[in-house]
Amino acid sequence: MAVQTYSGSCHCGNVRFEADIDLAEGSGKCNCSICSKTRNWSVSVKPEGFRLLSDEQATTDYQFNTQSVHWPFCRTCGVRAYGHGDIPEVGGKFVSISVACLDDVTPEQKAALAVRYADGGNNNWWNEPSDAEKQYL
Ligand SMILES: [Zn+2]
Repeated sequence: MAVQTYSGSCHCGNVRFEADIDLAEGSGKCNCSICSKTRNWSVSVKPEGFRLLSDEQATTDYQFNTQSVHWPFCRTCGVRAYGHGDIPEVGGKFVSISVACLDDVTPEQKAALAVRYADGGNNNWWNEPSDAEKQYL
């Protein structure tokens, strides 16, 4: 596979974006405080691979803890389609995109996406959570 451009949006459509994603690089799920509450399933790209097509004012930003990541959500429908931040330990600037908000990734492509699990809830990012926990992330 290769890098392709996909379109994404929130539920109401006020937040729209395009992203250049190589689905062969796989996706991630995590048990940290925000990922577990939002059941976040994401793919990560560099900022230059992400283009917000809608007005940034359509979102409300949300940050917590070390404030290192922004988690904007749609002011109208509440869906959080992406997050972005700069964490040197994981390779610097990134945009984390919700797989569920990608509109033109087919069910077959989603089913074939490799998933990496991270035990972020225990600050143990490079290891997986327990098998039981992985089941419901
Ligand atoms: Zn919306």
